[in-house]
Amino acid sequence: MTESLVVADKIVVGFGSDGSPEILEDAAILISGAVIAAIGPAATLRRAHPGVQEIGGRGLVAIPGLINAHHHVGLTPFQLGARDQPLELWFPERLAMRDVDPRLDTLFSAFEMLASGVTTVQHLNSRAPGDTEAVIRRSDAIIGAYVELGMRASYSFALRDQNRMIYEADEIFVASLPEELRGPTAAYLAGFGLPLTEQISVFHTLRDRWAKAPLIGIQIAPSNLHWLSDAALESAARMAEQTGAPMHMHLLETPYQAEYARRRTGGSALAHVDSFGLVGPQLTIGHGVWMTPDDIGLLADRGGCLCHNCSSNLRLKSGTADLNGFLASGLPVAIGMDEAGINDDRDMLQEMRLVLTLHRGPGHATPGPTAAQVLRMATEHGAATTPFAGRIGRLAPGLLADIVLLDWRAVTWPHQDPGLALVDVLVRRAKTGAVRRVLVGGETVYLEGQFTRIDRDAVLEEIACALAAPRNKVELAMKHLAKALHGPVAEFYRDWPV
Ligand SMILES: [Zn+2]
Repeated sequence: MTESLVVADKIVVGFGSDGSPEILEDAAILISGAVIAAIGPAATLRRAHPGVQEIGGRGLVAIPGLINAHHHVGLTPFQLGARDQPLELWFPERLAMRDVDPRLDTLFSAFEMLASGVTTVQHLNSRAPGDTEAVIRRSDAIIGAYVELGMRASYSFALRDQNRMIYEADEIFVASLPEELRGPTAAYLAGFGLPLTEQISVFHTLRDRWAKAPLIGIQIAPSNLHWLSDAALESAARMAEQTGAPMHMHLLETPYQAEYARRRTGGSALAHVDSFGLVGPQLTIGHGVWMTPDDIGLLADRGGCLCHNCSSNLRLKSGTADLNGFLASGLPVAIGMDEAGINDDRDMLQEMRLVLTLHRGPGHATPGPTAAQVLRMATEHGAATTPFAGRIGRLAPGLLADIVLLDWRAVTWPHQDPGLALVDVLVRRAKTGAVRRVLVGGETVYLEGQFTRIDRDAVLEEIACALAAPRNKVELAMKHLAKALHGPVAEFYRDWPV
């Protein structure tokens, strides 16, 4: 077993039960294979393991690898031609997106994530057209890209069996359209019409196929209430029961989704989902912007998690989630960058800063998240939403060696008052340029701006070449359809009391 010793001035190993950061000074982490074998004073570990290879050293701060707990695609929709829209209008807008090879696409955002200290991503694939074989092929390409780069990923192919364009049946939507749009729209929607039984078989196939890959976990993603019939909700509950796989479900992202739930169930979306036995420690709710205090209480009581997608909520006009309410309820809250952050990239350090700052309401006595809470969200709580729960998100003997080394001089240059707490300085000031080294499962996969396994420049060049070609016939038709569907989709929601 390969051994190495990660040495740093300070190591943030995790958080105590009261939420305060646990920080070791002049410490080291002994890694054996993919796992942390010991953590302690650097001098003691050096003495006990003479000759072991040393990584890191003076001027560095080590933290657990960050977890992006909600992610979908590589190049951003904006890069590929879809402007930011309110979520419901963004669904048709996204038809305008260029098509990108799934391996290159996945690598693109994985580069951004790793370079900002993300070692594990929750990849929710909600758009894979075609038959079972095509969906599995695309899934394998995405998962394979993470393995190739050496990044940890929890992957799911989202379950979805209805209402693919608006919060109403596909047939009703198609029938509402002008004659000339019906054929192309029906054909587009049919591309995503994989039967539920086949969608479930995709999950089992991927779970078997990637069972032995240490970097990969496969989980369940019941996409969202409006996208799932009651039969599909029941299937998701059974899948979780049979396999113990965790679930990540978008819910109550926009006020329109809250209104849809009222119309369908007469009450709350979360209470309806709960009636199928889906709400429990295995469930993470993505967004939850429109959860009521009762919903928050229910999710907390059941031991579920929430994933806060701060940038996405702003960009798609979904609203501002009640993060302070979530935190006060004791809910473990993760952070997800969703399709992209406010800089249209996947910079987790930036996203953490946004979370830290956005929820500071006016008034001297109003609450706001602390830097320690935000870092805990991005590490321990993010970990809890993945199949790697309990094995990542902290640095401790027996856990996986997913570690980020920050150049503290770069964080604090030319001056930072030493009286301020380390975690406060980290969350407020650390930029991607300070990320010196990233280890996943004990292996260095990113070092001083370079990826150790893949040439980023070559991949970006390949993407540039592929997209330099003008839109092909299908892409052109889809761009036209995106524009044509905007009006009819907007019209559907016109009278909704939102
Ligand atoms: Zn999402």
